[in-house]
Amino acid sequence: MSKVLIIGAGGVSRVVVQKCASLPHVFSEIMLASRTKSKCDVIAREVGQGRVQTAQVDAENVPELTALIRSFGPKLVIHVALPYQDLTIMDACLEAGVHYLDTANYEPKEEAKFEYSWQWAYQDRFKEKGLTALLGCGFDPGVTSIFTAYAAKHYFDEIHYLDIVDCNGGDHGKAFATNFNPEINIREITQNGRYWKDGAWVETAPFEIRKDLNYPNIGARPSYVLYHEELESLVKNFPTIKQARFWMTFGDEYLTHLRVIQNIGMARIDPVMYKGVEIIPLQFLKEVLPDPGDLGENYSGETSIGCRIRGIKDGKEKTYYIWNNCSHQAAYDETGAQGVSYTTGVPAMIGAKMLLEGHWSGAGVFNVEEFNPDPFLKDLATYGLPWHEEFDGDLEL
Ligand code: NDP
Repeated sequence: MSKVLIIGAGGVSRVVVQKCASLPHVFSEIMLASRTKSKCDVIAREVGQGRVQTAQVDAENVPELTALIRSFGPKLVIHVALPYQDLTIMDACLEAGVHYLDTANYEPKEEAKFEYSWQWAYQDRFKEKGLTALLGCGFDPGVTSIFTAYAAKHYFDEIHYLDIVDCNGGDHGKAFATNFNPEINIREITQNGRYWKDGAWVETAPFEIRKDLNYPNIGARPSYVLYHEELESLVKNFPTIKQARFWMTFGDEYLTHLRVIQNIGMARIDPVMYKGVEIIPLQFLKEVLPDPGDLGENYSGETSIGCRIRGIKDGKEKTYYIWNNCSHQAAYDETGAQGVSYTTGVPAMIGAKMLLEGHWSGAGVFNVEEFNPDPFLKDLATYGLPWHEEFDGDLEL
């Protein structure tokens, strides 16, 4: 039985809070804190029964955060605010002596660059304090990394080729909307692509590599190579990998909107003056786009995210595909959130459960694939995200 503090009150948080609240034998007391307390109160009311306390906090203010952590006394902080706050929340966890979990790696606000170096640099500090920092425990990164660890543990002597495939086959009926925080999402997908090949990164222009891939229960969808953060830790933790790529599906309509947004300067992250006030165009755009947290109601279709792996077992070449499909409507009916928030929030809750129940432990900073994948995947299926496997099929890649 343990207390947890959850930071951030967006779409992902709604799922994490509900899932944690449904397991009182693991999460005995829950506090939800965010920049806007009223958003925490809405989620707490949805859960009901006084299970969730709420508070206001600026997660970029270390003394304020540390004081909140000390006053509530959790064992773990689950960070589902934004990647900009990773380091300040890690600092506060060290100050207050509590474990840390997040779903996205640190990004500096002024540069659209995401990599693990900043958070891996906390290794010695977490070790010295005997605390665990668990990085990237959503779906991708998160479950995709654990799928890879599971394949390495049970089915391969060496993994040689890894393709992570992320398809959103859903339709929310809007002309243009992102499925999680628009600012973070647009920063991510407008960067150059990058994939791992023979010991080095190969850079591509955005959306340069395209292939139609078939997804279970969805069919063929145009899929593009993007850089995604789990590639960085997976090629480090599984050094036999010769090639690692990340594919994401985008419809033509989405890409047209994105191109226009970029061409007219609305994806800029440098400040511009507007009527005497400094604004950042992408942050302004976020305010006028649909809130990803509100997309759920009429969202049809499914997500399908998995790993397609080729490697060697007992001297023979083998292929393996492991994936989860998640229905937006089923996610909404259960939690009031759409499938992308659901597929991120459920793994964050399970990662927290792994730490609190002692299945995963250790002092230092860890990526999820460094721990035993078995208890996590057992819980993943139990708590809403069943997964499937195909052996020696055609990977299309
Ligand atoms: P939202 O934008 O819906 O929610 C973010 C929340 O963080 C908001 O409630 C916001 O407050 C709060 N917040 C922002 N800044 C601060 C601050 N300085 N102090 C306190 N609270 C703050 O995002 P999502 O729920 O869509 O995403 C949450 C996280 O999940 C993101 O980091 C995203 O990158 C990650 N993610 C990970 C995925 C994975 O598979 N690994 C997939 C999808 C998302 P306010 O309400 O006031 O704006």
